[in-house]
Amino acid sequence: MGFSTDAIHAGQKPDPTTGAVTLPIYQTSTYVQESLGNPIDGHDYARVKNPTRTAIEANIAALEQGEYGTAFSSGMGTVSALTVFLKAGDHVIVGKNTYGGVYRYFELMIRDFNVDFSWIDTSDVENIKSEIRENTKMLYIESPTNPMLTLTDIQAVSEICKENDIIFVVDNTFMSPYFQRPLTLGADIVSHSSTKYLAGHSDMIGGILITNDEKLDERLKFAQKTAGAIPSPFECWLLLRSTKTLSLRMRQHDSNARAIAKWLEERPDIEKVNYPGLESHPQHELAKRQQLDPNGNPGYSGMISLDVGSFEKAKKILNSVTVFSLAESLGGVESLIGNPAIQTHASVPKEEREKLGITEGLIRLSVGIEDVEDLIADLDRAMS
Ligand SMILES: *Cc1c(COP(=O)(O)O)cnc(C)c1O
Repeated sequence: MGFSTDAIHAGQKPDPTTGAVTLPIYQTSTYVQESLGNPIDGHDYARVKNPTRTAIEANIAALEQGEYGTAFSSGMGTVSALTVFLKAGDHVIVGKNTYGGVYRYFELMIRDFNVDFSWIDTSDVENIKSEIRENTKMLYIESPTNPMLTLTDIQAVSEICKENDIIFVVDNTFMSPYFQRPLTLGADIVSHSSTKYLAGHSDMIGGILITNDEKLDERLKFAQKTAGAIPSPFECWLLLRSTKTLSLRMRQHDSNARAIAKWLEERPDIEKVNYPGLESHPQHELAKRQQLDPNGNPGYSGMISLDVGSFEKAKKILNSVTVFSLAESLGGVESLIGNPAIQTHASVPKEEREKLGITEGLIRLSVGIEDVEDLIADLDRAMS
C-alpha cells in the first residue's frame, strides 16, 4: 500500500464488536481471561499489551517500513529503553549535536553505571571510524540535527556499523517517515519523539522505536513492559488520529518552509540561513539523496534556523511576532519561534555552543501549516 493509505489504515480494523470505524480507546488496566492461564490474544495486563497501543505501534512501524514498533510515554522514554542493550564497560558513540535531554540522560545518569560515551560530529564518516573501539556497542544520531540542520549520511554510517557489529539508532523526529525512512538506508532502529511531527498538534507527549530485527524488538518489548514507560491509551488514540493526516501536514510544512527559507536568504539583514532545501546548504546534495518523500521526491520538512547577528536583534524579533508563537518544541500545525542559546541549549557551555554555530543571534523556526503569506508578513513586520 502507499504511504497515505498505510497512514490511515495500517494497524487498525473497524472495531469487531460494533463496527465502529474509529478504533476505540481501550481504557482498561486488565482483561478477563477465558480460563486460568488463557488470556484473550495475550491480553493479561495493560502495561504489557493494550489494543489501542498495538494499533499505533503497527501503524507507525508501517510508515517507517519496519516490522515492529514499541511505543513509550515520551521521546526520552525511548532513549532510556535503548539502554536495555548496554551493560557496564560498553561504549556508545553519539552525534555531538543531539537533543539536550539525550546528553543529560547519558552523561548525568548512565555514565554512573560505567558506560562510556563519545560525542562526535557524525557528518564526517571518518570521525566515526576513528572513534570505534572494541567495546563500542551503539551509535546514536539525529539527521538533520537541531538547530544547525547538519546531516549525516545514514547509508554510509550503517555500513560501518554492520562491519563492526554496532547497533545503529537514528532519531527521525525532524523528518518524520514522510521525508526519511532510515531503516531502508540500513539503520537498525528508528527513534521518534512522537510529540513532534507524528502527533503534529502540540497536544501530547510520546515516543516510539521501530525496527525490522526480531531480536532487537524482543528486547525493546521487554524494556517496555519491565521499565514501564508506556503511553496511555488516550495518547495512543490521539496519535492514531494524527498520523492519518501526516502526508498532508508534512507536504505543507515543507512547502511553507521552502518559501520562508528562500525569502530569508534574500534579505540582506540576515547573516545566515540553515535549511537543507537551500542550494547554499553545504549538504544539499546529500539531503536531495537521503530525504525523500514516498514518491522519491526530495523534501526538507519544516525546521529552519537563521542568524540575525546579535542577541538584541533576535530578542526584538521574538518579542514582536504575532502569528509565530514564542515557545519550545516543534512539529505542530502552528508555527513556533525560539532562541536555542537561551532555551533548548542553555545548558551547553557558551564556548561549546558557539563552536556548534549556536550563537545568541540564532533563531529557530518550526514552520507550521498556516498560510505562508501570513507567516512571511509576520516575520517581515518583526524584522523591520
Ligand atoms: C523532543 C525531542 C526529543 C525528546 O522527546 P520528548 O517527547 O520531549 O521526551 C528527542 N529527540 C528529539 C530530536 C526531539 O526533538
